[in-house]
Amino acid sequence: MTTLVTGGAGFIGSHLVERLLLDGHRVLVLDDLSTGRFQNVAHLEGKPGFELRVASVTDPEIVERCVLECSSVYHLASAVGVKLVVDEPVKTIETIVNGTDNVLKACARYRRPVLLTSTSEVYGKGTKIPFSEGDDCVMGPTTTRRWAYACAKALDEFLALAHWHEARLPVVVARLFNTVGPRQTGRYGMVVPRFVSQGLKGEPITVYGDGEQRRCFAHVADVTSALAGLMREPKAYGQVFNIGNDEEVTILGLAERIRKVTGSKSTIRLVPYSEAYTAGFEDMMRRVPDLSKIRSLTGYRPSRNLDHILEDVCRDQSSER
Ligand code: UDP
Repeated sequence: MTTLVTGGAGFIGSHLVERLLLDGHRVLVLDDLSTGRFQNVAHLEGKPGFELRVASVTDPEIVERCVLECSSVYHLASAVGVKLVVDEPVKTIETIVNGTDNVLKACARYRRPVLLTSTSEVYGKGTKIPFSEGDDCVMGPTTTRRWAYACAKALDEFLALAHWHEARLPVVVARLFNTVGPRQTGRYGMVVPRFVSQGLKGEPITVYGDGEQRRCFAHVADVTSALAGLMREPKAYGQVFNIGNDEEVTILGLAERIRKVTGSKSTIRLVPYSEAYTAGFEDMMRRVPDLSKIRSLTGYRPSRNLDHILEDVCRDQSSER
Protein backbone atom coordinates (compact mmCIF):
# COMPACT_ATOMS: atom_id res chain seq x y z
CA MET A 1 0.00 0.00 0.00
CA THR A 2 1.01 3.58 -0.54
CA THR A 3 1.94 6.10 2.15
CA LEU A 4 1.14 9.78 1.68
CA VAL A 5 3.73 12.32 2.83
CA THR A 6 2.53 15.91 2.66
CA GLY A 7 5.50 18.28 2.57
CA GLY A 8 7.58 15.35 1.29
CA ALA A 9 9.84 17.65 -0.76
CA GLY A 10 10.80 19.62 2.33
CA PHE A 11 13.91 19.10 4.40
CA ILE A 12 12.48 16.61 6.93
CA GLY A 13 9.89 15.26 4.50
CA SER A 14 12.45 14.25 1.87
CA HIS A 15 14.48 12.29 4.45
CA LEU A 16 11.30 10.57 5.64
CA VAL A 17 10.38 9.66 2.06
CA GLU A 18 13.81 8.08 1.49
CA ARG A 19 13.43 6.07 4.63
CA LEU A 20 9.92 4.84 3.78
CA LEU A 21 11.07 3.79 0.30
CA LEU A 22 13.97 1.86 1.86
CA ASP A 23 11.48 0.20 4.21
CA GLY A 24 9.57 -1.02 1.12
CA HIS A 25 6.67 1.46 1.07
CA ARG A 26 5.30 3.08 -2.04
CA VAL A 27 5.24 6.83 -1.37
CA LEU A 28 3.05 9.60 -2.76
CA VAL A 29 4.41 13.08 -2.03
CA LEU A 30 2.10 16.08 -1.99
CA ASP A 31 4.11 19.30 -1.99
CA ASP A 32 3.58 22.72 -3.55
CA LEU A 33 7.36 23.33 -3.67
CA SER A 34 6.96 26.60 -1.77
CA THR A 35 9.39 26.01 1.07
CA GLY A 36 10.03 22.46 -0.18
CA ARG A 37 12.39 22.13 -3.14
CA PHE A 38 12.31 19.82 -6.13
CA GLN A 39 16.07 19.23 -5.68
CA ASN A 40 15.31 17.51 -2.37
CA VAL A 41 13.53 14.68 -4.19
CA ALA A 42 15.03 14.96 -7.70
CA HIS A 43 17.14 11.84 -7.06
CA LEU A 44 13.96 9.84 -6.32
CA GLU A 45 12.10 10.71 -9.53
CA GLY A 46 11.66 7.61 -11.67
CA LYS A 47 12.42 5.23 -8.80
CA PRO A 48 9.82 2.50 -8.40
CA GLY A 49 7.23 3.36 -5.76
CA PHE A 50 7.86 7.13 -5.77
CA GLU A 51 5.41 9.73 -7.03
CA LEU A 52 5.44 13.52 -6.62
CA ARG A 53 2.28 15.59 -6.97
CA VAL A 54 2.86 19.34 -7.01
CA ALA A 55 -0.11 20.96 -5.30
CA SER A 56 -1.01 22.59 -2.01
CA VAL A 57 -2.50 21.00 1.11
CA THR A 58 -4.79 24.02 1.19
CA ASP A 59 -6.67 22.52 -1.82
CA PRO A 60 -9.28 20.21 -0.22
CA GLU A 61 -10.11 18.25 -3.40
CA ILE A 62 -6.52 17.34 -4.14
CA VAL A 63 -5.91 16.39 -0.52
CA GLU A 64 -8.98 14.16 -0.53
CA ARG A 65 -7.87 12.39 -3.72
CA CYS A 66 -4.37 11.76 -2.36
CA VAL A 67 -5.66 10.45 0.98
CA LEU A 68 -8.07 8.10 -0.78
CA GLU A 69 -5.18 6.55 -2.74
CA CYS A 70 -3.10 5.89 0.38
CA SER A 71 -3.32 3.68 3.45
CA SER A 72 -1.64 6.06 5.93
CA VAL A 73 -0.61 9.70 6.04
CA TYR A 74 2.35 11.66 7.41
CA HIS A 75 1.31 15.31 7.46
CA LEU A 76 4.44 17.46 7.39
CA ALA A 77 3.37 20.27 5.04
CA SER A 78 3.53 23.53 6.94
CA ALA A 79 4.97 27.00 6.94
CA VAL A 80 8.49 26.69 8.32
CA GLY A 81 10.78 28.82 10.37
CA VAL A 82 10.35 31.80 12.61
CA LYS A 83 11.52 34.24 9.91
CA LEU A 84 8.81 33.23 7.43
CA VAL A 85 6.19 33.37 10.13
CA VAL A 86 7.15 36.90 11.08
CA ASP A 87 7.34 38.03 7.42
CA GLU A 88 4.19 36.33 6.06
CA PRO A 89 1.75 35.80 8.91
CA VAL A 90 -1.48 35.41 6.87
CA LYS A 91 -0.08 32.72 4.61
CA THR A 92 1.47 30.99 7.62
CA ILE A 93 -1.77 30.76 9.57
CA GLU A 94 -3.80 29.70 6.52
CA THR A 95 -1.37 26.99 5.45
CA ILE A 96 -1.08 25.54 8.93
CA VAL A 97 -4.72 25.63 9.95
CA ASN A 98 -6.53 25.06 6.63
CA GLY A 99 -4.01 22.48 5.41
CA THR A 100 -4.31 20.38 8.55
CA ASP A 101 -8.10 20.69 8.55
CA ASN A 102 -8.17 19.36 4.97
CA VAL A 103 -5.88 16.45 5.80
CA LEU A 104 -7.76 15.48 8.96
CA LYS A 105 -11.18 15.72 7.27
CA ALA A 106 -10.05 13.43 4.45
CA CYS A 107 -8.41 10.99 6.89
CA ALA A 108 -11.58 10.98 8.98
CA ARG A 109 -13.72 10.27 5.90
CA TYR A 110 -11.61 7.31 4.74
CA ARG A 111 -10.39 6.19 8.20
CA ARG A 112 -6.68 6.60 7.43
CA PRO A 113 -4.13 6.68 10.28
CA VAL A 114 -2.39 10.06 10.31
CA LEU A 115 0.73 11.39 11.98
CA LEU A 116 0.79 15.15 12.41
CA THR A 117 4.13 16.90 12.88
CA SER A 118 3.91 19.72 15.38
CA THR A 119 6.64 21.75 17.02
CA SER A 120 8.35 22.53 20.32
CA GLU A 121 7.19 26.11 19.68
CA VAL A 122 3.84 25.11 21.23
CA TYR A 123 5.53 25.09 24.66
CA GLY A 124 5.99 28.80 24.07
CA LYS A 125 7.56 30.67 26.95
CA GLY A 126 7.43 27.72 29.33
CA THR A 127 10.45 27.73 31.65
CA LYS A 128 10.08 24.31 33.28
CA ILE A 129 12.95 22.29 31.80
CA PRO A 130 12.73 19.74 30.24
CA PHE A 131 9.42 20.14 28.38
CA SER A 132 7.04 17.22 28.88
CA GLU A 133 4.04 16.56 26.70
CA GLY A 134 1.53 17.40 29.47
CA ASP A 135 3.11 20.75 30.34
CA ASP A 136 1.30 24.05 29.86
CA CYS A 137 1.69 25.97 26.59
CA VAL A 138 2.64 29.50 27.59
CA MET A 139 1.87 31.87 24.73
CA GLY A 140 2.64 35.55 24.30
CA PRO A 141 0.22 38.24 23.11
CA THR A 142 -1.56 38.14 19.72
CA THR A 143 0.16 41.42 18.83
CA THR A 144 3.51 39.57 18.65
CA ARG A 145 3.50 37.79 15.29
CA ARG A 146 5.86 35.05 16.40
CA TRP A 147 3.09 33.49 18.51
CA ALA A 148 0.85 32.99 15.48
CA TYR A 149 2.95 29.98 14.53
CA ALA A 150 2.78 28.36 17.96
CA CYS A 151 -0.96 29.02 18.30
CA ALA A 152 -1.74 27.73 14.79
CA LYS A 153 0.24 24.53 15.42
CA ALA A 154 -1.42 24.13 18.84
CA LEU A 155 -4.81 24.46 17.14
CA ASP A 156 -3.77 21.69 14.71
CA GLU A 157 -2.99 19.50 17.71
CA PHE A 158 -6.37 20.24 19.28
CA LEU A 159 -8.10 19.38 16.01
CA ALA A 160 -6.21 16.10 15.58
CA LEU A 161 -6.94 15.04 19.15
CA ALA A 162 -10.59 16.07 18.70
CA HIS A 163 -10.88 13.64 15.75
CA TRP A 164 -9.45 10.91 17.97
CA HIS A 165 -11.80 11.81 20.80
CA GLU A 166 -14.97 12.00 18.71
CA ALA A 167 -14.49 9.15 16.24
CA ARG A 168 -11.31 7.30 17.27
CA LEU A 169 -9.52 8.44 14.11
CA PRO A 170 -5.99 7.03 14.60
CA VAL A 171 -3.91 10.20 15.00
CA VAL A 172 -0.44 10.72 16.47
CA VAL A 173 1.02 14.15 17.22
CA ALA A 174 4.83 14.46 17.05
CA ARG A 175 6.34 17.65 18.52
CA LEU A 176 9.65 18.15 16.77
CA PHE A 177 12.45 20.01 18.53
CA ASN A 178 15.20 21.72 16.47
CA THR A 179 15.80 19.24 13.66
CA VAL A 180 18.89 19.71 11.51
CA GLY A 181 20.92 17.87 8.89
CA PRO A 182 21.80 17.71 5.21
CA ARG A 183 19.51 19.66 2.79
CA GLN A 184 18.22 22.08 5.40
CA THR A 185 18.35 25.60 4.04
CA GLY A 186 19.29 28.67 6.04
CA ARG A 187 16.86 30.71 3.94
CA TYR A 188 14.14 30.56 6.61
CA GLY A 189 16.44 31.57 9.45
CA MET A 190 17.55 28.17 10.80
CA VAL A 191 20.71 28.59 12.75
CA VAL A 192 22.82 25.52 11.89
CA PRO A 193 22.75 25.81 8.06
CA ARG A 194 23.27 29.57 8.37
CA PHE A 195 26.32 29.26 10.64
CA VAL A 196 27.85 26.46 8.53
CA SER A 197 27.40 28.47 5.35
CA GLN A 198 28.88 31.59 7.00
CA GLY A 199 31.80 29.51 8.32
CA LEU A 200 32.53 27.92 4.94
CA LYS A 201 32.46 31.30 3.20
CA GLY A 202 34.61 32.94 5.90
CA GLU A 203 31.83 35.46 6.62
CA PRO A 204 31.05 36.67 10.16
CA ILE A 205 28.94 34.16 12.10
CA THR A 206 25.81 36.04 13.20
CA VAL A 207 24.89 35.16 16.78
CA TYR A 208 21.63 36.83 17.85
CA GLY A 209 21.33 38.39 21.29
CA ASP A 210 24.17 37.48 23.65
CA GLY A 211 24.36 33.88 22.40
CA GLU A 212 23.60 32.48 25.86
CA GLN A 213 20.26 31.03 24.65
CA ARG A 214 20.49 27.26 24.31
CA ARG A 215 19.04 24.66 22.00
CA CYS A 216 19.16 20.88 21.52
CA PHE A 217 19.73 19.81 17.91
CA ALA A 218 18.54 16.45 16.59
CA HIS A 219 19.82 14.78 13.43
CA VAL A 220 17.07 14.44 10.82
CA ALA A 221 17.83 10.71 10.47
CA ASP A 222 17.05 10.17 14.16
CA VAL A 223 13.87 12.21 13.81
CA THR A 224 12.56 10.33 10.76
CA SER A 225 13.22 6.99 12.41
CA ALA A 226 11.24 8.22 15.45
CA LEU A 227 8.35 9.26 13.17
CA ALA A 228 8.27 5.86 11.47
CA GLY A 229 8.46 4.15 14.88
CA LEU A 230 5.43 6.07 16.17
CA MET A 231 3.37 5.31 13.08
CA ARG A 232 4.02 1.58 13.55
CA GLU A 233 2.77 1.65 17.14
CA PRO A 234 -1.04 1.62 17.58
CA LYS A 235 -0.58 2.45 21.29
CA ALA A 236 0.64 5.88 20.13
CA TYR A 237 -2.77 6.82 18.67
CA GLY A 238 -4.53 9.69 20.39
CA GLN A 239 -1.29 10.87 21.99
CA VAL A 240 1.37 13.59 21.76
CA PHE A 241 5.12 12.80 21.73
CA ASN A 242 8.25 14.93 21.88
CA ILE A 243 10.94 14.03 19.35
CA GLY A 244 14.45 15.46 19.39
CA ASN A 245 17.76 15.24 21.17
CA ASP A 246 18.40 16.36 24.74
CA GLU A 247 22.06 17.43 24.38
CA GLU A 248 22.10 21.20 25.02
CA VAL A 249 24.47 23.79 23.54
CA THR A 250 24.56 27.60 23.76
CA ILE A 251 24.24 29.38 20.42
CA LEU A 252 27.60 31.04 21.06
CA GLY A 253 29.10 27.59 21.78
CA LEU A 254 27.51 26.33 18.55
CA ALA A 255 29.14 29.17 16.60
CA GLU A 256 32.55 28.30 18.07
CA ARG A 257 32.15 24.60 17.27
CA ILE A 258 31.11 25.37 13.72
CA ARG A 259 34.10 27.66 13.27
CA LYS A 260 36.30 24.75 14.31
CA VAL A 261 34.55 22.09 12.19
CA THR A 262 34.64 24.26 9.06
CA GLY A 263 38.28 25.25 9.77
CA SER A 264 37.13 28.83 9.31
CA LYS A 265 38.67 32.18 10.17
CA SER A 266 35.18 33.73 10.47
CA THR A 267 34.65 36.19 13.28
CA ILE A 268 31.64 35.88 15.56
CA ARG A 269 29.33 38.91 15.38
CA LEU A 270 26.70 39.53 18.07
CA VAL A 271 23.54 40.88 16.39
CA PRO A 272 20.80 42.49 18.54
CA TYR A 273 17.41 40.76 18.22
CA SER A 274 15.82 44.05 17.10
CA GLU A 275 18.15 44.00 14.07
CA ALA A 276 17.78 40.27 13.37
CA TYR A 277 13.99 40.09 13.59
CA THR A 278 11.60 42.93 14.44
CA ALA A 279 11.32 45.09 17.54
CA GLY A 280 9.67 43.23 20.42
CA PHE A 281 10.83 39.79 19.23
CA GLU A 282 10.89 37.27 22.07
CA ASP A 283 13.37 34.41 21.93
CA MET A 284 13.27 31.26 24.05
CA MET A 285 16.28 30.91 26.32
CA ARG A 286 16.11 27.14 26.67
CA ARG A 287 14.22 24.37 24.98
CA VAL A 288 14.95 20.80 26.06
CA PRO A 289 12.70 17.83 25.24
CA ASP A 290 11.74 15.27 27.84
CA LEU A 291 12.11 12.12 25.72
CA SER A 292 10.96 9.60 28.32
CA LYS A 293 7.50 9.11 26.80
CA ILE A 294 8.62 8.14 23.30
CA ARG A 295 11.54 6.15 24.75
CA SER A 296 9.29 4.00 26.87
CA LEU A 297 6.84 3.32 24.02
CA THR A 298 9.17 2.79 21.06
CA GLY A 299 12.69 2.58 22.55
CA TYR A 300 13.69 5.78 20.70
CA ARG A 301 17.12 7.15 21.55
CA PRO A 302 18.89 9.72 19.37
CA SER A 303 22.07 8.05 18.10
CA ARG A 304 23.82 10.99 16.39
CA ASN A 305 25.43 13.70 18.54
CA LEU A 306 26.19 17.32 17.62
CA ASP A 307 29.66 16.53 16.19
CA HIS A 308 28.14 13.95 13.87
CA ILE A 309 25.41 16.44 12.84
CA LEU A 310 27.86 19.25 12.12
CA GLU A 311 30.12 16.98 10.06
CA ASP A 312 27.13 15.86 7.96
CA VAL A 313 25.91 19.43 7.39
CA CYS A 314 29.44 20.64 6.47
CA ARG A 315 29.89 17.77 4.03
CA ASP A 316 26.49 18.49 2.46
CA GLN A 317 27.11 22.22 2.06
CA SER A 318 30.68 21.68 0.79
CA SER A 319 29.43 19.29 -1.90
CA GLU A 320 26.83 21.87 -3.03
CA ARG A 321 29.43 24.58 -3.52
N1 UDP B 1 20.04 32.32 15.66
C1 UDP B 1 21.23 33.04 15.64
N2 UDP B 1 21.74 33.40 14.43
C2 UDP B 1 21.14 33.09 13.24
C3 UDP B 1 19.93 32.34 13.27
C4 UDP B 1 19.40 31.99 14.50
O1 UDP B 1 21.83 33.33 16.69
O2 UDP B 1 21.69 33.45 12.17
C5 UDP B 1 19.50 31.91 16.98
C6 UDP B 1 18.03 32.20 17.21
O3 UDP B 1 17.82 33.52 17.69
C7 UDP B 1 17.66 31.15 18.23
C8 UDP B 1 18.54 29.97 17.85
O4 UDP B 1 19.60 30.50 17.07
O5 UDP B 1 17.99 31.55 19.54
C9 UDP B 1 17.81 28.89 17.05
O6 UDP B 1 17.17 29.53 15.96
P1 UDP B 1 16.34 28.73 14.86
O7 UDP B 1 15.62 29.74 14.03
O8 UDP B 1 17.24 27.76 14.16
O9 UDP B 1 15.32 27.85 15.71
P2 UDP B 1 14.27 28.22 16.87
O10 UDP B 1 14.37 29.66 17.19
O11 UDP B 1 12.96 27.84 16.32
O12 UDP B 1 14.70 27.36 18.02
